[in-house]
Amino acid sequence: MNLLDPVLQQFQEILYEAKQAIVFTGAGVSTESGIPDFRSPGGIWTKHQPITFQDFLRSETIRHESWKRKFATDTVVQNAKPNPGHIAITSLIRKGIVCSVITQNIDGLHQIAGVPDEKLIELHGNATYASCLDCHKRVSLKEIRIPFEAEGHLPVCVECGGIVKTATISFGQPMPESAMLKANKAASVCDLFVVVGSSLVVYPAAGFPIVAKQNGAKLIILNRDPTDLDELADLVINREIGPTLAAVTNTRDV
Ligand code: ZN
Repeated sequence: MNLLDPVLQQFQEILYEAKQAIVFTGAGVSTESGIPDFRSPGGIWTKHQPITFQDFLRSETIRHESWKRKFATDTVVQNAKPNPGHIAITSLIRKGIVCSVITQNIDGLHQIAGVPDEKLIELHGNATYASCLDCHKRVSLKEIRIPFEAEGHLPVCVECGGIVKTATISFGQPMPESAMLKANKAASVCDLFVVVGSSLVVYPAAGFPIVAKQNGAKLIILNRDPTDLDELADLVINREIGPTLAAVTNTRDV
């Protein structure tokens, strides 16, 4: 006997019929781990003017301000743990239902929950490490934080002398080309596209469900609030993410 209510039963049926599903995650998945949606009213991006990529490149003073803000807010991200939503998504990958996760989130929680790197497409980069803007050498935040806080020392790449920046995509910075290509390809070949916790207002990312739908995939939207693409979806569920995904994945194996 299936103990799920009719909406969740329908969700489960569509999901477990899929051979090549994509999950697309937004801020709503991370807020359930206590990470604030920085773009929401009252979020830090509405209190401070965001630092654009161009300003970051242009001025040492602005780079200093940028690192100061980064370390002031970093503890929240560092202490966050994956929630039942992240765990359910990982279990769908292990069951062979979901083939890739495309995410707008920068907190690294999908990796911590066990999504392998080759199955994760990060559209807005990753806030848990830094990298050189020239040679892309990866640098740990700890390595940067100590000299920065002790002497205001700005990080410089030890390999090439380039500017080091958090590995996120800033306002004004081009979207990462390879991630965009991979996401587009994944969206166009999938048979099911599941949006989880995104209000689908940030383009170009919000175009992927449309690409998927145009190529014959089914579309499910699980989000706390309605989105602009609800009309296009085969199923819309406005509920909490973690409990919903956990209920659907924990009550059926394959
Ligand atoms: Zn470098």
